[in-house]
Amino acid sequence: MDESQLTPRDADYWGAVELDARGWVESYNAPLRIALGLRPDIEFLKMIVGTDPSKLSPFVRVTSTDAIEICFPQGYFVWFDNAATFMNLNAAFRDRVNLCRAFEQQDHSRFFHSTWSRWLVLHEVGHVVCGHLAIRRIQTFDEFEAADTIGRLSPEQLALRRAIEIDADVWAAQMFFVTIGSITAKNYWDGLYHTEKAAGYGMKDLAMIFLPFFMEWDHVGPEVARTHPKIYERLIVMLVYGQSAFLANAGEHGPELWNVFMLGIKEAITYLWGLEGSMLHKERPTVDLVSHWKRLTDAGVQHRRLHSFKDDWLKGTPPGLASE
Ligand SMILES: [Zn+2]
Repeated sequence: MDESQLTPRDADYWGAVELDARGWVESYNAPLRIALGLRPDIEFLKMIVGTDPSKLSPFVRVTSTDAIEICFPQGYFVWFDNAATFMNLNAAFRDRVNLCRAFEQQDHSRFFHSTWSRWLVLHEVGHVVCGHLAIRRIQTFDEFEAADTIGRLSPEQLALRRAIEIDADVWAAQMFFVTIGSITAKNYWDGLYHTEKAAGYGMKDLAMIFLPFFMEWDHVGPEVARTHPKIYERLIVMLVYGQSAFLANAGEHGPELWNVFMLGIKEAITYLWGLEGSMLHKERPTVDLVSHWKRLTDAGVQHRRLHSFKDDWLKGTPPGLASE
């Protein structure tokens, strides 16, 4: 595949990419309204596309009417399109994505964007459900609201903010892989790949699609780097909490398919190793989930949940410590 075969990056293309993200946002509107006991005619959750060119990272906010807006800046789509384009055009990488091999002449960027958007929407919805926002005036969580005034946060507030991001990531990982586990158990992948027993292809591709996404975040400027935890840490959270959610839902072949996913991560690393300056070449930061867990429970975040959910990591013992 060469550049001439890519879908032109015109208004139609960007509109379609935005529409996919909007679809994921809208899919949470009804479940959230029901969970929070809101009237069915209220459009509670909305997606907006931000035009501020200095913003690259999606974010969530409460409006004056207590609706929730998830904002995807235009710059985000443009920035991450670099990764999507690379994945289509780099022959060594593309050759290892089963979907690209199955449908050789296609530009798969829209599918990559949609998978990433789904993850990001879950992260932002996680901020709502996990009680990080001052929502319906029953919650006050100034630390989160202070996102734009990051310079004024004390080191303790900043650390809590990072822990809050991890909290939303844990929720996103669990929700994402509950769904992936369920569609695996139902052989949904077969329809997508037009072949039988495609779950292994799907799980490997998922790994190949997500690793460049996490790597790309590592290159997004200081605006995000300062409020969000280190991207390597976020990748580990996705793998750890995603694994248990996947295994609980994927059926008898779950363990073997999770192994395929992890082999996909390894293969993606192998073929992206050549990229200069990527996170793969940086020193691995320590992943300190215990500190995040303690910060969140000390701040009482477990009592702010808007909806109690199964496997809430804050209800258990700190990660990495024996439960006995
Ligand atoms: Zn966040």
